[in-house]
Amino acid sequence: MSNTKGYAAQSATTPLGPFKFDRREPGAHDVEIEILYCGVCHSDIHQARNEWGGSIFPMVPGHEIVGKVTRVGAHVKNFKAGDLAGVGCLVGSCGSCPSCEQGLEQYCEKGMVGTYNGREKDGSPTYGGYSDKIVTNEEFVLKISEKLSLERVAPLLCAGITTYSPLRQWKVGKGHRLAVVGLGGLGHMAVKLGVSMGAEVTVLSTSARKEADAKELGAHKFVVTKDEASLATVKNYFDFIIDTVSAEHDLNLYLSLLRLDGTMILLGVPPTAPQVAAFNLIGKRRRLAGSLIGGIKETQEMLDYCAEHNIMSDVEVIPISEINNAYGRMIKGDVHYRFVIDLKTLN
Ligand code: NAP
Ligand code: ZN
Repeated sequence: MSNTKGYAAQSATTPLGPFKFDRREPGAHDVEIEILYCGVCHSDIHQARNEWGGSIFPMVPGHEIVGKVTRVGAHVKNFKAGDLAGVGCLVGSCGSCPSCEQGLEQYCEKGMVGTYNGREKDGSPTYGGYSDKIVTNEEFVLKISEKLSLERVAPLLCAGITTYSPLRQWKVGKGHRLAVVGLGGLGHMAVKLGVSMGAEVTVLSTSARKEADAKELGAHKFVVTKDEASLATVKNYFDFIIDTVSAEHDLNLYLSLLRLDGTMILLGVPPTAPQVAAFNLIGKRRRLAGSLIGGIKETQEMLDYCAEHNIMSDVEVIPISEINNAYGRMIKGDVHYRFVIDLKTLN
């Protein structure tokens, strides 16, 4: 066992604070990583506050992890001490179901093992990246390019892959009109990736103040969803809508912006279930879909794509002592556009 320092929520209603726990010694197939940076995802808030139910406490959140390999097990082939490495949202899956066989471990039929708020095969809880190190089977460890700045790469491990995967699945590109709902961590990556793939990208936001940022991120249009006149200009307009909203909102408003055969893809997971009016789908043969993070192979493909195209997250680096304030700001939509924890501040 090795002593690990982290930050944990002790219950759904307590702020996060310092927490000491043990990580296993690296087994034959394990990689030990000294965590340098960890992004802050809205899923961390949902789970730390038990908004989806079933949370395991104490909880050390964090699934956008980058750092340096410190030790590897005897059978590890692809990593050695000193390499840069990343861990995203999952650290295990059954490995043999049809989903796992296709490299879609996130859809494992026996359930994937989350990087935190999950359980290892022996039943012990998993603890995430708000900590100084992690020990993970090498099959769930990603290679990180030396070319990019590490703190700006961390959010690719969740916000990057969660938006890259549906853009690839639906082959979004040149000639498509793509809308991104919500300009936060996932949303700003959807804009950058959508633009890089050749789509015309519109941000649909509740925050008029984000217009200049949206354009700087590459968006072609910006619509404030509270402004009915502005919204009317994009009725029946989009081929695809990617919805990254973390709070309750009316899907019908957005569905009405899809053209014939358009598809709206849900990424955000508000705590309450949405209502959908059938007429909003049948009237224009529209489709409503969802997508969950991405498999390991596709996550590596996304990281390599971002290194090649120089795509990184826009980040605000914080000391870990600021984490509770950062949660408060994210809930208010005040994020530009991902908080990233500098784990050196844990000491
Ligand atoms: P975030 O950085 O907090 O961004 C969410 C954005 O949603 C806000 O910045 C805001 O953008 C918009 N928003 C907030 N409240 C709203 C409301 N009431 N109505 C309309 N828009 C609202 O969150 P994130 O980290 O990107 O995560 C977003 C969601 O995706 C969360 O629910 C998270 O759990 C989920 N998620 C899903 C997956 C997956 O695999 N599917 C992976 C990661 C995260 P504007 O100011 O522009 O309106
Ligand atoms: Zn996430």
